[in-house]
Amino acid sequence: MMVQYLTIKAGYPDTLVFYRMGDFYELFFGDAEKASRLLDITLTQRGQSAGEPVVMAGVPFHSVDSYLARLIKLGESVALCEQVGDVATAKGPVERKVVRVVTPGTLTDSELLSDKSEALLMAVHPGARTGCGLAWMSVTQGIVFLAQCASDELADWIARVSPGELLYSAEVSPAFEKNLQTLGSQPTAAGARLVAVVRPAWAFDAALGERKLLEQLQAASLGAWDAQDLPDAHAAAAALLNYAEHTQGRALTHVKSLKVARTDELIDLPQNTRRNLELTQTLRGETSPTLFSLLDVCCTGMGSRQLRSWLLEPPRDRTPARARLHAIGSLRGGLWQSLRQALKGATDVERITARTALRQVRPRELVGLGQTLERAQQLAQQLGTPSGLLGQIAAQLQPPQGCAGLLRAALLAEPAALVRDGGVINDGFDADLDELRGIQNNCDGFLIELEARERARTGIANLRVQFNRVHGFYIEVTQGQVDKVPDDYRRRQTLKNAERFITPELKAFEDKALSAQDRALTREKWLYDQLLDQLQSFVQPLSQLARAMAALDALCALAERSLTLGWTEPQYVPEPCIDIRGGRHPVVEARLNETSGGSFIANDTVMGPKQRMQVITGPNMGGKSTYMRQVAVIVLLASIGSYVPAASCRLGPIDAIHTRIGAADDLANAQSTFMVEMTEAAQILHAVTSHKEAPGRPKLTSPPRGEGGAQPGPGGAYSLVLMDEIGRGTSTFDGLALAGGIATHLHDKARAFTLFATHYFELTEFPASHHAAVNVHVSAVESSGKGGIVFLHQIEPGPASRSYGIQVARLAGVPAAVVQHARHALAALESQSEQSRSQVDLFAPPPEMPEPEISPVVAALTDLDPDSLSPREALDLVYRLKRLM
Ligand code: ATP
Repeated sequence: MMVQYLTIKAGYPDTLVFYRMGDFYELFFGDAEKASRLLDITLTQRGQSAGEPVVMAGVPFHSVDSYLARLIKLGESVALCEQVGDVATAKGPVERKVVRVVTPGTLTDSELLSDKSEALLMAVHPGARTGCGLAWMSVTQGIVFLAQCASDELADWIARVSPGELLYSAEVSPAFEKNLQTLGSQPTAAGARLVAVVRPAWAFDAALGERKLLEQLQAASLGAWDAQDLPDAHAAAAALLNYAEHTQGRALTHVKSLKVARTDELIDLPQNTRRNLELTQTLRGETSPTLFSLLDVCCTGMGSRQLRSWLLEPPRDRTPARARLHAIGSLRGGLWQSLRQALKGATDVERITARTALRQVRPRELVGLGQTLERAQQLAQQLGTPSGLLGQIAAQLQPPQGCAGLLRAALLAEPAALVRDGGVINDGFDADLDELRGIQNNCDGFLIELEARERARTGIANLRVQFNRVHGFYIEVTQGQVDKVPDDYRRRQTLKNAERFITPELKAFEDKALSAQDRALTREKWLYDQLLDQLQSFVQPLSQLARAMAALDALCALAERSLTLGWTEPQYVPEPCIDIRGGRHPVVEARLNETSGGSFIANDTVMGPKQRMQVITGPNMGGKSTYMRQVAVIVLLASIGSYVPAASCRLGPIDAIHTRIGAADDLANAQSTFMVEMTEAAQILHAVTSHKEAPGRPKLTSPPRGEGGAQPGPGGAYSLVLMDEIGRGTSTFDGLALAGGIATHLHDKARAFTLFATHYFELTEFPASHHAAVNVHVSAVESSGKGGIVFLHQIEPGPASRSYGIQVARLAGVPAAVVQHARHALAALESQSEQSRSQVDLFAPPPEMPEPEISPVVAALTDLDPDSLSPREALDLVYRLKRLM
């Protein structure tokens, strides 16, 4: 057995092998030690292998799911090695095989997956030049995504997709590998670690990838998906599909969709924006309260996952958002309520369909699927024949002909959990099975009849015919009556007070009954396999139905939210503008309603080409951050086609939302608070700058197709930038100087819609010299009450008169003596600063710098086209460069 185990283990060196032995999965040697440490299970020793004691640890097979869940969460992978041979006829150890590898990025089991998010697998392949190919998928969703990006955009892509597992070639450069390992040490959006997996270089082959994709899609060209010219992404797809098939132990017949993701089609939401706006996770890493937790009142896991992907992937093109708005508008009439009623209790058709294709589906899931198909029919009827998106959904909700009927006919209404136990296939579905079951059911009648007959024949009134699992059927006679037993009785067992016998007739019956039971079980397994075969032809239409149901659920949830929370329909306009009247921050508002019963103060925001920047001042705790985030959240909600928390909202084209909010150390990556602050600011300035300077290149921030030119301006898309207290992490002068420089850049060069909150009063002079900037402030009044200050949270024109920092400190419970000391010091500082205030122009551009002289080496390199050089020319060039040096 150890030979068998070690042979299997050799194929899975980096994976924990769960080796099935009867009712346990056993792990051996290093695997056992690791599992014992990770799962806190007992390590034992038994026998010897190659002179060494065999170290082992095991988990019961019926509770394997909970152990798997824990290991996957820790980033481990598990190869499930099952007994596949016939135990009865096996000579030596029964044949075993790894039937599936469970890995963080390829989960399919409902017990291991989160309802509300996908488990994603991604492969990356650095191309010959500076680009990078990407391919990713969720095995249960059945769509392969492809993308190609510049190397410096890779981290953002990985953060956006947030895979659980990342594949890369064994032959990538050490620098590339190090970069991936660093990313791997950061938690994913789902809170788990990203696991990086090295795959052999041959798996990343572009031609193989293209061929595999064509096979999956059963197409002759990738042209229909606009995916033919992405060789690096094809190489990544080759590794992706190969690995996914390897883990599932079979071909992925349900993967029949392809999408090419192009960031220039999406509004850019960098990782910082997702974090700072608390879209799916709070800054503390919790899943609630977030914008998603507020929105997600979906009835199904499929709906939640759909809504989440809408929220994180707002399209720049307004067409899908318009279609959703229109659909929500129709649902709000009242239809949403009855639809949601029918959606409640619907099973996860998407995942059940994937598991059907992978032949991992359980009987009860299929019964649930059958019932859900009936619901889908009801949903389609309720929808009627509307136009637009709802019309498409209604058409796709029609269950495939014959599928529900087949499931109903084939399966018992309440089948056993596992096919292995029998009791799954419906009566009347298969004549052979019915006959075998008939024999078992007739058992009781036969035994009663036999008992009566034998009592009459022997004259033993208390004779009993019985059955137990160990001894089978027998006739029991008490000791006192044994001498009455006829000759054809054969002794089976002697007990203290009784003897047990068998007769030729009973033996014949026993053989028939027991073999009927075995045969019935075998027949059921075979019939279940046949059923799975038949269901394969429904996989495609079922996936489509699942998507329609998910979209309907998400739309109904948005309709419900819009009514319950009093949201309004946004209006899209072609000219650049953000015009929000009575805007609210939905999550802060909901929390206020829940906790204090206090009401949220609504605020207006009006921005356009002539008023692109607001310099926001006001007291601490006044509501500056809340105000800025509410603008971003409303813009995002409008962009996904949701109603918005505002009295009205007009929105022009937007291509990105950038945020720099709050101070957080990133100690894990050796970054101080100020370093994080400046890195984030730098990322924003670069991203917004490239918006202007790199027209045409499909960069993260380039404008949408068909919605204006490459530069902001009339008809073009604008980025929205939130800058909260930039420059606070360093000394006052440094910070102020940096804040002034950044504001000037954003105003003059990037020309983004900018909300710039600051405590530097000097910056309130900025609008005087910058025509598209205005001052606003959050209002507060001093009071003689306990805190000394009342926050009004109202945005008003003009700069704030003062900071109220000391009042807020007092509110926070800083000891009175300290507060008193601070007041005193403040008065002194203020009078000193009045006296010494010199006329410094913070916002004046720096004197023109002379053009730096370009070295001849740089000049030679600038003119160079590496791809057009022959090896000989390259060598000559090295000598030339050396001479020039
Ligand atoms: P600091 O300068 O200290 O960072 P801030 O001005 O950014 O403070 P916020 O963090 O936005 O202040 O708001 C503080 C609190 O005030 C919020 O948590 C919220 O409870 C409340 N608040 C903010 N805006 C409003 C509003 N419009 N209506 C009601 N309450 C609000």
